[in-house]
Amino acid sequence: MKKLTNALHALCMGAGIMFAAPALAAPVVPSPAYDAGLVVQVRGCHSNVQRHRVREFGRTLSHRHLRNCRPVRVTPARPRDCHRDVRRHQIPGYRGRVVHRHVGPRCIARIYR
Ligand SMILES: [Zn+2]
Ligand SMILES: [Zn+2]
Repeated sequence: MKKLTNALHALCMGAGIMFAAPALAAPVVPSPAYDAGLVVQVRGCHSNVQRHRVREFGRTLSHRHLRNCRPVRVTPARPRDCHRDVRRHQIPGYRGRVVHRHVGPRCIARIYR
């Protein structure tokens, strides 16, 4: 009988390890939003862009789901380019290289001609 209990215990540990691990690390603190994202993947059919592991893709990436729940990969629209000093290079929405710098938390390009 003891052997069976051990086997069940091992099974539980195996199945629950992904979700149990964060809970064990911080048993008192309420789950942060990050954990909520992990839970979503079980039913996971959000229409807004989220980043979590998608079974269909086999990895973590930014995506959203269509009405039929099919995941669609979404590449972040905002360019990574966010320098605060004046530089000259090509940016989306402008032809050729433009002299500009980026302002504000959303990295809006301010153009200098
Ligand atoms: Zn998803
Ligand atoms: Zn730039």
